[in-house]
Amino acid sequence: MQTRNIRLSNKQKSFIRQWYEDFANGQASSSYLASEQVNALATLLRVPVQPVMDYINKKYINPSNYLPANSDFAPTSGRAHDPKRRPPFQPDYSLTEANQHLHSTTLSLVERYVQACQRRRAQNDGRRSVNDGPFRCTFGCGYRTKRAFDWRRHEETHEPQELWLCLVCSQKGEQNPFLVNRKDKFLKHAKDAHKDGWEPEVVLEMSRVDFRGTFDPQCPNCPTTSDTWDDRCRHILGHYEDEANDSSRKL
Ligand SMILES: [Zn+2]
Ligand SMILES: [Zn+2]
Ligand SMILES: [Zn+2]
Repeated sequence: MQTRNIRLSNKQKSFIRQWYEDFANGQASSSYLASEQVNALATLLRVPVQPVMDYINKKYINPSNYLPANSDFAPTSGRAHDPKRRPPFQPDYSLTEANQHLHSTTLSLVERYVQACQRRRAQNDGRRSVNDGPFRCTFGCGYRTKRAFDWRRHEETHEPQELWLCLVCSQKGEQNPFLVNRKDKFLKHAKDAHKDGWEPEVVLEMSRVDFRGTFDPQCPNCPTTSDTWDDRCRHILGHYEDEANDSSRKL
C-alpha cells in the first residue's frame, strides 16, 4: 500500500506523542485504542491512518515485537470488549482514586473542575425566573424543570459524568486548556477558539477524557442505591413521574 511509505514529520510525531501521553495512556494499558480516535488523530494531522497507527504501535503498544498491521488496528488481543476492563463502580471510591489512570496534569485539572462543580450545590440564590416543573434538582439548589433531559443535564452541572479537555489548547501549551462537561459547550469552544481548520467534531472526539465520575449511589427519596449514573437518573425520574401522575389523577 502506498500509504505505508508516508513518513511522519517530527512535528507530527511529537503531536501524536503528546496526545497519546495526555489522553490515551490509561486506556492503552489494556493495549486497546479506539479506532475512531486514531482516525480523528490522522484527520487532524492530515495524514492517512496507517502511519499514525504504525507509529503508536511501535512507540507505545508493542515496541519489542511489533508486527505491522495489514488490516485492522491489530494488537487488541481480544480484550477490547472485555467488560472487566473498567472496574465496576465503587461507591467509596474518591474521584482521585477512580481516575488514577489519567495523566497527572489531566487529573489535577479534572479534580479542580469537578470540585468547582460540586461547590455550586450550596448556592440557592433564588434568582431563577422560570423555575417550574416536576423535576427538581437533588443537590438542593432550587432548580426545577418540566423536561427530564434538562433535569439530567442540570444534575451533571453539580456532578459531572463526562468531560472534554481541549486537545488543541493543550497542544498549544495553554495554562488552562478548555475543560467542560457538556458536549454542546465544547463544540462551541472548538468552533470559536480554533477556527484555523480544525473540525469541531474531530477535536471533540480527540478531547474526550476517559473520566470516571463519582456520585452518591443512595436515592434521596427511598432506600434504593444505584450502580451507575444512568440507573440513578432513571430511578429518580421514576419518582418524579409517579408524583406527577398522582397529582394529575387528583385533579
Ligand atoms: Zn441544582
Ligand atoms: Zn481549545
Ligand atoms: Zn428512590
